[in-house]
Amino acid sequence: MRFVSTRNPKDVVSFEEAVFRGLAPDGGLYHPVERLDLASLYERLGPEKGFVDVSYEMVRLLFGDEFSEEEAGRLVERAFPFSPVLRELTGSILLLELFHGPSCAFKDFGASFLASCMEVFLSRREGRAVILTATSGDTGSAVAQAFHGRRHIDVVILYPSGRVSPLQEKQLTTLGGNVHALEVAGSFDDCQRMVKEAFLDRELRERCPLTSANSINLGRLVPQSFYYVWAYAQLKARGDRPFFCVPSGNFGNLTAGVYAWWWGMPVRGFLAATNVNDVVPEYLSTGVFTPRSSVRTLSNAMDVGNPSNFERLLALFEGDHRRMAAVIRGERVTDEETLDTIARYWREREVFLDPHTAVGVKASERLLERERGVAPVVTLATAHPGKFLEVVEDALGIRPPLPPQLEEVLAKEKRAVKIPNTLEALKAFLLDLWG
Ligand SMILES: *Cc1c(COP(=O)(O)O)cnc(C)c1O
Repeated sequence: MRFVSTRNPKDVVSFEEAVFRGLAPDGGLYHPVERLDLASLYERLGPEKGFVDVSYEMVRLLFGDEFSEEEAGRLVERAFPFSPVLRELTGSILLLELFHGPSCAFKDFGASFLASCMEVFLSRREGRAVILTATSGDTGSAVAQAFHGRRHIDVVILYPSGRVSPLQEKQLTTLGGNVHALEVAGSFDDCQRMVKEAFLDRELRERCPLTSANSINLGRLVPQSFYYVWAYAQLKARGDRPFFCVPSGNFGNLTAGVYAWWWGMPVRGFLAATNVNDVVPEYLSTGVFTPRSSVRTLSNAMDVGNPSNFERLLALFEGDHRRMAAVIRGERVTDEETLDTIARYWREREVFLDPHTAVGVKASERLLERERGVAPVVTLATAHPGKFLEVVEDALGIRPPLPPQLEEVLAKEKRAVKIPNTLEALKAFLLDLWG
């Protein structure tokens, strides 16, 4: 499979190139050049297939020219020591739990697959890479965990001192080994600026193999399609064609599902569930896309006012609003409804929902009220409720249990290097690390 920039039809690259570039040089995003037909795979798959098996088949079909059978096997084994879980929430809503990985959120799937790809590519040419990233708390932990212990790769993470939660800080600073946490005396904006400046610094670029691992990277996006396919295979025996509901912010997760459909997977449709940052649901109902500044909500990983992956969705539907709206519906959920949903599921079923998943569940309920025939709605559970303790505790007055991965992290000792908020300080650290 080849990929092309959303902004330049002449910029065609391999998967390997797309992975190391991240963003296209023209500022566009890479997306598949043409539609693949995976119908024979979808026919063959059944519920007996494990997640690693499904992933292996997908890698061979999508990237057969870039990974040998042996490499593909190693790749998925190393990427996915954890698996999604499909669970019944109600008679018509199923939860696709994507929070059983090391950072307890769905981003583990993409980050870990990207790390494994880089490891394979680098070991082939005996190359090395330094992943440089800034975090305001949450996204950094999936990257740090995913790249921890990978050969040929160092990770340098900048975070603003005193401005991330104690748990998030532990997640970033207790890994050690090839993961280097820099505690910056400054704000998240300072951290981002320093990273940008480092990528533009000629001396650094020449002496240090800097690369990024942010969420627009194709190596994080494509593997997210694997769990839709796995869920489809699980449900096939019941004769069900699923409707997928996806709690969305930057729309990477939803785009990956739409790819699986585009490649021929039978589904009834997709529901884009957002909080009040609802520019995509608005576009789906009106045909007008109006990006705006984001508003803070309780489901803060979805507080995005100008979702970057919308550009990929537009490319896939060739800018045709009606075609997109025929496949994807939208729903908007307020904070009040989110809290009410968390409380109701605890009261009635003793199930904890994290605020992002609660947005999805509420949106699924509304869809089902209007159209009973769409059941089962498979709602993606994007984070473990213990990861958003404060919100869940506020809604219920009781604390959800912390997942064991996070318990362990809390017991470990923080190790971070304190630096001032300047490029010089970051540069000195990188050149020292790199020798
Ligand atoms: C990132 C994130 C989302 C949003 O996913 P997108 O791919 O950006 O739409 C939803 N829930 C949680 C818990 C997240 O971390």
